[in-house]
Amino acid sequence: MRDLSNDRSLLAINSATVKPWTLEQLVEGCVRAGITAIAPWRDIVQAHGVEKAGSLIRGAGLSVSCYCRAGLFPAADEAGRRAVDEAAAIGARSLVLIAGGLPKGSKDLAGAHRQVRDGIAALLPYALAAGVPLAIEPLHPMYAADRACVNTLAHANDLCDQLGEGVGLAVDAYHVWWDPDLAAQIARAGERILTYHVCDWLVPTRDLLLDRGMPGDGVIDLRSIRAMVEATGYNGLIDIEIFSAQNWWKREPAEVLRICLERHQTVV
Ligand code: ZN
Repeated sequence: MRDLSNDRSLLAINSATVKPWTLEQLVEGCVRAGITAIAPWRDIVQAHGVEKAGSLIRGAGLSVSCYCRAGLFPAADEAGRRAVDEAAAIGARSLVLIAGGLPKGSKDLAGAHRQVRDGIAALLPYALAAGVPLAIEPLHPMYAADRACVNTLAHANDLCDQLGEGVGLAVDAYHVWWDPDLAAQIARAGERILTYHVCDWLVPTRDLLLDRGMPGDGVIDLRSIRAMVEATGYNGLIDIEIFSAQNWWKREPAEVLRICLERHQTVV
């Protein structure tokens, strides 16, 4: 297992963690803190202008662990291709995909699963041609209806089996920590793991979407999960991604970065 105690080179800051910041502020803030990687969401990249965003990030010497995100399939259309283009323009190592939930008015979960598979299959040739790996991120089951009907690593691994080259996984500790099959499915994922996200599960969680915790403040055994991920040979970045409307988004982002760095070195 990699020793993070004196190493900031493996930390990537997800733009959701410092939500008040623009892309420019995120880049400057990371450079100031000696953090060398980011994982931007599309809103701040688009607000800056995609081409300019690429030059800004490259000019600052930052790498991009992943680009968040495309999805809500079926989306094998212009929107999916645009997300691939943006990911390529900023040099992202992968494009994170989330599945989308049930179509409006539908109760056909199996049908939604098929649509997701077909949607990713339709986008895949374009992503392969652009050299952008697609990272399927299973989300916690509480999101099955409205955000993502791919909720387990087993399901995401099955999709990878079916879709083949160019598709891998985004493992987010927040979404998968509860799974009794976690160790086996991470081992099964092997080199398919394209990006690894961390935050913590607070007790109680007051809001299904926007009450995620700073690593160390909740109940997830992050060390153990990272050990499983790294045992597959995963050698990539660790992306701290915290949606926290009531707490972290209200704090001074530079202070949030400082705490992320400290937790990265002590509890992640
Ligand atoms: Zn994530």
